[in-house]
Amino acid sequence: MTSHFPFDNSYARLPDRFYARIAPTPVAEPALIRVNRDLALHLRLDPDWLASPEGVAVLAGARVPEGAEPIAMAYAGHQFGQFVPQLGDGRAILLGEVIDRDGQRRDIHLKGSGRTPFSRRGDGRAALGPVLREYIVSEAMAAFGIPTTRALAAVTTGEAVMRETLLPGAVLTRVASSHIRVGTFQFFAARGDEEALRLLADHVIARHYPQLADGDRPYHALLEQVTARQAALVAQWMLVGFIHGVMNTDNTSISGETIDYGPCAFMDAYHPGTVFSSIDHAGRYAYANQPKIAQWNLTRLAETLLPLFSQDQDTAIAEAQDILRGFAEKFEKAFHGGLRRKLGLFTEREEDIDLARELLAAMSEAKADFTLTFRHLVKAAAGPEGNEALRKLFATNPAAFDDWIASWRKRLSQEPQDAATRQEMMRKVNPAFIPRNHRIEAVISAAVERHDFAPFEELLTVLSKPYDDQPDFAHYAEPPQPHERVLQTFCGT
Ligand code: AMP
Ligand code: MG
Repeated sequence: MTSHFPFDNSYARLPDRFYARIAPTPVAEPALIRVNRDLALHLRLDPDWLASPEGVAVLAGARVPEGAEPIAMAYAGHQFGQFVPQLGDGRAILLGEVIDRDGQRRDIHLKGSGRTPFSRRGDGRAALGPVLREYIVSEAMAAFGIPTTRALAAVTTGEAVMRETLLPGAVLTRVASSHIRVGTFQFFAARGDEEALRLLADHVIARHYPQLADGDRPYHALLEQVTARQAALVAQWMLVGFIHGVMNTDNTSISGETIDYGPCAFMDAYHPGTVFSSIDHAGRYAYANQPKIAQWNLTRLAETLLPLFSQDQDTAIAEAQDILRGFAEKFEKAFHGGLRRKLGLFTEREEDIDLARELLAAMSEAKADFTLTFRHLVKAAAGPEGNEALRKLFATNPAAFDDWIASWRKRLSQEPQDAATRQEMMRKVNPAFIPRNHRIEAVISAAVERHDFAPFEELLTVLSKPYDDQPDFAHYAEPPQPHERVLQTFCGT
């Protein structure tokens, strides 16, 4: 058997207590939905082979490829604030790691690949809908330029999974810089296993933060870097109206990638309190709570690192608090910088953030569409004749909005660029297309009810160039009609 994956499995070289060795459970009738050809090439994999019957057998977990060392990773986590000392990959398996064309190590991971010792009462499987949702949203995030796990392939299994009803089963092949989570650190901290914590921290530093290895306080620097990446990540989510939906510590990646797309969603109408997830009753993971929650999750990470910081607990706590305090500033810098650019302000003035806040307040009051508002600002930036589409979004209070536009224009006049350059720069930070919930639902219905994957393909094509106008697909930029509105999203597990 020739090797089609040049695997090098560093995580499987860690001690046994980091994972359970287990092969995927074969499925009845694997059939390919899609291979992400560009990503495959970037990973030095052969997309044609992946799409062949042999490749599809691997993607469905029916066949373990040469060089793979399949494992289910152990982790713990706080779920909605409650600590669960053992979660782990209950329906996923890490096949192994490859080095991509940029020299980056990437996990090849099957989601929906059968039961593992961490499955608890779950069936180890995934339904087609959530697999398509994760494929679409993770690839859209990548196209925005936001750190994220990727989708290499999706297959159907030919088996049904039981959720509220019987649904077609599927497996997603997920690619990540690693699947190490805040919860992975918590798993060992909860067991008082300091040796494992140190091994894990060293592994993470070598893999994600190699520049820290030779510093004098590498574990402090690690917390600082993870904090910086989380702050930057959440700021980027907020700037495209993304709501993760389950920011539990087991869904918080140490590499700073967006991971675990469950009930995630993009806002249509702007409101800071927006929640879609059916299980988030208290709105813990609402849009505007995300920075606060990220900091809470980082505090849980910091707690696990205390023994590596100092023998003296008080010293360790003080040092950790110092680092965590930096979160707010890092987040604000990234978020405010992003808001400025979205407004077409590429120089900095103190009043800019108030200007942005006033716009957000007006949007919230008018229930203006988040994405369209900013995209229409690009048009409006050409001059007053471009205002019309934008004004329509604020029909409930046009007079107040005209005041805002006037202040904005005054501020724009202090910018050095000509209008065309400014618009070009604004277009690159204000997407025309986002994976709108109603579009995702339509894709899922077509696939589940009619076995029609054409809408899935078309949506992926549109979202691969979110910043381009794409006049042929202009309807994909539109918010839902009232009857199309999706009010709730589900984990789908
Ligand atoms: P998630 O909600 O996807 O972040 O998963 C939380 C935990 O539940 C993880 O330990 C998962 O592995 C586990 N889990 C979710 N769905 C299933 C399933 N269908 N079968 C087994 N375990 C699952
Ligand atoms: Mg998870």
